[in-house]
Amino acid sequence: MDKLCILVRELLPLHEADVCSLAAAATIEEHLQQCEECRRRREQLRAVLPGEEAAASRDVEELKPATPLAKLWRRALLRAAAWVLAGLLGVAALLLTVCTLRGDGYTWFSLPAYITAEKLADAVTDMHPIRMRKYIAFTGVGPQDELEIRQKLQALALEEGVHISEGWSQLSRCAADDGVQELSVFFTVWRAGKSYTVEFPGSLWEPFAQKAALRYPLVTDNSTGRYVEPLWLDALADALCTHDPG
Ligand SMILES: [Zn+2]
Repeated sequence: MDKLCILVRELLPLHEADVCSLAAAATIEEHLQQCEECRRRREQLRAVLPGEEAAASRDVEELKPATPLAKLWRRALLRAAAWVLAGLLGVAALLLTVCTLRGDGYTWFSLPAYITAEKLADAVTDMHPIRMRKYIAFTGVGPQDELEIRQKLQALALEEGVHISEGWSQLSRCAADDGVQELSVFFTVWRAGKSYTVEFPGSLWEPFAQKAALRYPLVTDNSTGRYVEPLWLDALADALCTHDPG
């Protein structure tokens, strides 16, 4: 018997169930036209009793991939969506619990972050008393620290010749985790006729650490566009940041 005949007869049940690939089906059909013996096998297969045919097609069904890829994907997506939803609900519940327990933290979270960040930047540039209090609420320092912050900034101007001329802020969401909001507050700082951009990167998760809302600043020399670490940086960080740079 021809080797091709062996293969075709092996594949006939699958071919009849129409589960062969197009290329295989074409090869089988081509062979069937030329091979009388294999055609007879097909007739025999088709003449199988209905019950047996059902059983045969069940066998064929079992040979098919159990779940089509699309169905697997849909299932995986649904499962992922369920996890994400459960995760979001869990985080929301946790936030509410922690913020309520912390008291001041709840107020902190209920303030629109971009407004708060702007207040922060404004507060230290013009020393506006109300904005100063917003800044203090934002950074989580106690109200008694307002005077201390003012004094530190004034000392910085006197001793180091460092002046803050303007502030602004940016809020963005972390791409990896939609729940984390990245916050940066910028100040333009002047000293001896040179300007610097001081960025305080921060994250809205940081109130969990009780204090730190802003991290240690990065300073760019605007004349060169390069990061620098001037001597007055510690004093500025100390005045503006409640976080201990370590
Ligand atoms: Zn044949």
